[in-house]
Amino acid sequence: MNQSTGRGPSKGQGKKKEKEKQLCPVNKKCGGCQLLHMDYKKQLEWKKEQISKLLKPYGKLEGITGMENPEHYRHKVHAVFGRDARGNTISGIYREGTHVIVPVDTCLLENEKADAIIKTIRGLLKSFKIKIYDEDTGYGLLRHVLVRVGYETGQIMVVLVLRSPILPSKNNFVKALRKEHPEITTVIINVNDRRTSAVLGVKEQVVYGPGYIEDKLCGMTFKISPRSFYQVNPPQAEKLYKKAVEYAGLSGKEVVLDAYCGTGTIGMIAAAKAREVIGVELNKDAVKDAVAGAKKNQIANIRFYQADAGEFMADMAQAGRKVDVVFMDPPRQGSSSEFLDAVLKLKPEKVVYISCNPETLARDMEYLCGNGYRMERGRGVDMFPLTIHVEVACCLQRVNKANP
Ligand code: SAH
Repeated sequence: MNQSTGRGPSKGQGKKKEKEKQLCPVNKKCGGCQLLHMDYKKQLEWKKEQISKLLKPYGKLEGITGMENPEHYRHKVHAVFGRDARGNTISGIYREGTHVIVPVDTCLLENEKADAIIKTIRGLLKSFKIKIYDEDTGYGLLRHVLVRVGYETGQIMVVLVLRSPILPSKNNFVKALRKEHPEITTVIINVNDRRTSAVLGVKEQVVYGPGYIEDKLCGMTFKISPRSFYQVNPPQAEKLYKKAVEYAGLSGKEVVLDAYCGTGTIGMIAAAKAREVIGVELNKDAVKDAVAGAKKNQIANIRFYQADAGEFMADMAQAGRKVDVVFMDPPRQGSSSEFLDAVLKLKPEKVVYISCNPETLARDMEYLCGNGYRMERGRGVDMFPLTIHVEVACCLQRVNKANP
């Protein structure tokens, strides 16, 4: 829609649309690639400007780290299955903010193997008499497919999200799928029988392979289960983690807290340079993966706890524990006031804040910088090219030492 004149596209906008259509036929309907019309250098400049503006009251951004090849970077791909108006099976993504499915065969953001696997699954459904779930009636079986690809290892996980646990001729289905894609290393059925917008349910059944994949970042091996968080863009995550650990300036003597630790990535990478690392994470599966990862990487000085990060930190502060460095990597909504208050009580020398939402980062920075911390360094890392999203790492130093 032309919003500037209301009289059809202006010359500039017409060009922009044409370019977008050439790059992606469904861009207009999908809305996922908001920056598709900008060349990559411009995208980086735009993102740098956005972050700089938000962080200006606290400090200066060093720059933004981009990708060499900013396409097909998503190593976790989710497709929703449904039917079009003619009753044909389709798979793709929800149109932003709706439950209307935009059919997608290939996507500029998504790993190409993952897209090919999803297409193959769509082709197999008829011969295996697998019915598509209907959101309106609640009938049918297949709801979503989730594919996770290990960047370094190439291992591939396929999760079939079903309304009920019985997949007809499941072994033959897996055989047929693996015939086309022998690189698939594990297949899992996830049962989601609720009328909810959440993709994954809680019940799982492994039908092929170990039920997880492994990936390597910064020389460490990480275990990834269907429901654990793992960054979707691993090569950029590696750059982000290296920067975060550099910001922490560890000497080997510190007690380090990795809050919102997911599968324990940051803590494990930092462990070799710290005396002791404590990881805290809410998701049970992610904590199990973190514990397994520490064992696999033979890291003895790290412990993981399953808890709400805010409550856990408040307990630590209450118990008078000493923490030198806090890494915090909260979800998009940012951290909680309980967590931030506990940081102020624990008084770590450094807080390394990693954020996937500069707005909540700025909100939390306001609080920390108003209560004894100063932003020392900050850098954007572009984990999500072609979209408006961006990741930021900030280093905060404690300055208000007089404050007891
Ligand atoms: N640091 C990790 C994960 C970051 S994503 C990495 O880089 O891979 C944010 C993580 O915070 C997710 O794993 C999510 O499960 C977890 N989380 C969300 N709310 C939480 C809370 N209240 N307490 C602890 N962890 C939480």
